[in-house]
Amino acid sequence: MTDAADQGPTSPAAVLFDMDGTLVDSEKLWTIALDDYAAHRGGSLSDATREVMVGSNMTRSMIMLLEDLGLPTEEADVDHAAAWVGARTAELFREGLPWRPGAPEALRTVREHGISTALVTSTIRSLAEIALDTIGRDHFDITVCGDEVDGRNKPDPEPYLRAARMLGVDPAGCVAIEDSPTGVASAEAAGCTVIAIPCEVPLLPGDRRVLRDSLEGLDLTTLSTVLDGAAA
Ligand SMILES: [Mg+2]
Repeated sequence: MTDAADQGPTSPAAVLFDMDGTLVDSEKLWTIALDDYAAHRGGSLSDATREVMVGSNMTRSMIMLLEDLGLPTEEADVDHAAAWVGARTAELFREGLPWRPGAPEALRTVREHGISTALVTSTIRSLAEIALDTIGRDHFDITVCGDEVDGRNKPDPEPYLRAARMLGVDPAGCVAIEDSPTGVASAEAAGCTVIAIPCEVPLLPGDRRVLRDSLEGLDLTTLSTVLDGAAA
């Protein structure tokens, strides 16, 4: 028996991975699909709107897209845009998803240490399944998709809370890995500690987040240090 103070670094109860922009560089493919839709409707998407859409779920994104294009945002309009953009994105995902630097190694490292893992994405299940063909389903104990959270998408804490519930772990013992302000806000609100790796949009420092440039070199020591730092 040892005192708590004598014990080594704390291993995370689970590592919860965002998908788009964190594991795979799919945000660029989303941009192509959104630009294609805007062109199809005779307009173009502004950079400002594109930026606030990063990390958002499909319905919210489509409302922002249609508003940006000056088009109606009735439910049928949103559904139609979502179907169009979803189909185009699926096409692009099938052509191949580029990894973010260090992502495959980080996934393997976490698995090798026997730590529970989840994928927590705002992307809908049908598209996430295409991405999982590239990423590999075996990396995750569970996966939570944007259409499985009762409409309470990031930045609501529900996606991360749900992942922790499904894994049977305390969110406070989890490290989430995120790339967007929306995703970081969700994970922090759930009580997770966050490794924040900006991809498309800059991220600011915060109490429950550690900023990094990439997933390269992520190891158990890093994960434990991040967790212990947040608990200190
Ligand atoms: Mg993301």
